Amino acid sequence: MRVPVHLADDIRAFIERRMGEAHKAPETTPAPEPLELWQGDKRCQAATSKGSRCRSPSAVVYKLQHAGRSIEIGICAQHQNQARQGIDPRVHPSVLDSVTKSNG
Ligand SMILES: [Zn+2]
Repeated sequence: MRVPVHLADDIRAFIERRMGEAHKAPETTPAPEPLELWQGDKRCQAATSKGSRCRSPSAVVYKLQHAGRSIEIGICAQHQNQARQGIDPRVHPSVLDSVTKSNG
């Protein structure tokens, strides 16, 4: 392929710029994948104010931090509403049992 002379310099500069970018090392290590506790569970995984597990069907996946790692639980529409108002849903302990077990 013949490249017009007036474009050759532009193309070379472009390639050198891209090569330079490719050689930069990533500065941040990627965060670990969140534990997807909602998988295989169709019920809301939040606890009610009385401490029992919510009986509603889960509607959305909700991400939160637990013991220094990020987890994803399924919550119902009502608990989603509360989350929108700034009230973080409390995860029911039975849901977290699987986290403790999977950690050994
Ligand atoms: Zn709920």
